Amino acid sequence: MTTNSHEDDTYDVVVLGAGAGGMATAITAAHEGLRVVIVEKSPYFGGTAAFSGGVLWIPGNPHGQAANPHDTRAKARRYLEHEAGEHFNARHVDAFLDKGPDMVRFFEAQTQVKFVPTLYPDYHPDVEGGAPVGRSILAAPYDIRALGPDMARLRPPLETITFFGMMFNSSNADIAHFFKATKSLTSAAYVTRRLVKHTLELLRYRRGINVTSGNALAARLGRSVLDRGIPILTDTRLVELLRDDTGVHGVRVSGPAGEQRLMARKAVVLGTGGFSHDTERRDQAYGHARAGHEHFSPVPADNTGDGARQAEAAGGHVDIRYTQPAAWMPVSKVPLSGGRHGAFPHLLDRYKPGIIGVNRQGRRFTNESNSYHDVGAAMAQQAAQGGEAAMWLICDQATLRKYGLGYAKPAPMPVGGLVRKGYLQRGRTLEELAQRAGIDPAGLAQTVADYNLHAREGRDPAFGRGTTAFNRYLADPAHTPNPCVGPIERGPYYALKLVMGDLGTFDGIETDVVGRVLARDGRPIPGLFAVGNDRASVMGGNYPAAGITLGPIMTFAYITGRFLAGIDDGLVQADGAASASGAAGNALGPGGAGPAATDDLAVTTVVPPGVQVKA
Ligand SMILES: Cc1cc2nc3c(=O)[nH]c(=O)nc-3n(C[C@H](O)[C@H](O)[C@H](O)COP(=O)(O)OP(=O)(O)OC[C@H]3O[C@@H](n4cnc5c(N)ncnc54)[C@H](O)[C@@H]3O)c2cc1C
Repeated sequence: MTTNSHEDDTYDVVVLGAGAGGMATAITAAHEGLRVVIVEKSPYFGGTAAFSGGVLWIPGNPHGQAANPHDTRAKARRYLEHEAGEHFNARHVDAFLDKGPDMVRFFEAQTQVKFVPTLYPDYHPDVEGGAPVGRSILAAPYDIRALGPDMARLRPPLETITFFGMMFNSSNADIAHFFKATKSLTSAAYVTRRLVKHTLELLRYRRGINVTSGNALAARLGRSVLDRGIPILTDTRLVELLRDDTGVHGVRVSGPAGEQRLMARKAVVLGTGGFSHDTERRDQAYGHARAGHEHFSPVPADNTGDGARQAEAAGGHVDIRYTQPAAWMPVSKVPLSGGRHGAFPHLLDRYKPGIIGVNRQGRRFTNESNSYHDVGAAMAQQAAQGGEAAMWLICDQATLRKYGLGYAKPAPMPVGGLVRKGYLQRGRTLEELAQRAGIDPAGLAQTVADYNLHAREGRDPAFGRGTTAFNRYLADPAHTPNPCVGPIERGPYYALKLVMGDLGTFDGIETDVVGRVLARDGRPIPGLFAVGNDRASVMGGNYPAAGITLGPIMTFAYITGRFLAGIDDGLVQADGAASASGAAGNALGPGGAGPAATDDLAVTTVVPPGVQVKA
């Protein structure tokens, strides 16, 4: 491998990582006239976004106002004050609330990125400022043939959540029809049509081409990147940042064509997706991992915390400060071909009636219908108290066949293979089940007896399942009186072990609002920026709603892209430290004291000035 210094190329902005943060920054900066390149170490663009649900939480988004016309910026801000608690950062939160709707309007007007509304309530809708609907939007489905030959470079969806490679769309009737396929002729016909279409796609393209959710978001971002002529150098590894006393000026990378120096007139942007697979930093941050409990992340294995290490080497810092340092996701380990295991994120089953979660003592320890992050936090707490960061889901045969359990699909799909492979444990009695699963038999029998006593009346006095709109949102509306609560009656019984996983990390590189990486003294490191999960989350370690990683990620990427292009959104702090130039060769002066806060979401959703100029 040679270093082709004569092949050096100079860009305005070099972005590391072709995920949601990196691509959104690149698109915004290029839209404003900057020359941008993206360096991506994997063979794919899309990052974790391509695995994701594709939901963005943007209070005041243009799609949500019809469903929730009474929502206001002040309510959303109050909600975040409660949710972020001691970590509430007014400057960052205000920027997010002010610019989020602008970001959505920009992408929908100027790029292939489009959204549809969802009916998600906030995850803590009863907390002051929480909303029953309207703040979460979803990437619109996409036909990836629009990517042309670059279709092969789109990261495929997470293997465990597709059905023979087919994706479901949570915003339409897909899932409902699949659940009802054996009970309704309409649903059976719908499912048959979907499967035939998908099989034809597989035969012709060797993958599903009608993608939904996060794969659609990644594809739409990728198309928009390519439309602007931004190269995505896949399979290209960062060797080092090129920096001197005056700042960061480029990168040395190694790719299929050998080593290359890419110079950056304005900035190198770290968008490498956080440290989900950096075992060293994980042990430092995650108490359960440090204590030796399993952590199995569905995040792509390429997210090894490279951005954090580069930032530290350049004088930046990553503090582990949030009580919950990552977005927790309880997962089960699915046996896949070739002896591999895949992480199955438990997004649907925990909400359903007749499914409970217990610890090794056979005891319930939390409201199973809370969000994945809250259930994960309860698992982490179990570990902190000397238990295990695990949960066994328990149900009976009727419930398993009705709703499925994890990777096990509802009837008529068979489950025997998953029992034989040890994914599911089965027992004729609760005691037999407990012995097979390694749970305390007496504890489990007592728990089920106690639970059933009230569950038959649809009540859960122990943990209050079904008491919030969010609990009920993913439950079974046809099950009365409580869509989340039903008894566990007749064997055989099933158990499925969940271990801790994450959707991405919350702790990250300290930046200012516009994404400049900050040194310990608060001064920006010239020429170095961070976006996405490389940058510390604005949520303070909490998970207030569906889409609270991708919403801020795309909003702050939009802010960073515009800042790099010299657009003054009034977000640069007026204090001495942060008003110093952060972008090498881009001596932007101090801005105002911050955006004028308005309480009216409608007022904050005006088209940003930069868009009007370019339109
Ligand atoms: C199953 C699942 C569902 C989810 N659903 C949602 C959801 O609906 N809503 C939501 O808000 N969040 C969701 N998330 C989380 C969300 O997907 C992530 O927070 C988000 O995609 C992170 O974006 P990012 O740009 O920081 O990183 P990524 O999207 O992961 O992109 C980082 C990129 O950097 C590349 N990279 C890594 N190291 C280097 C290097 N040294 N040089 C060059 N490139 C590098 C990686 O290969 C990757 O392509 C979900 C996550 C999972 C796993």
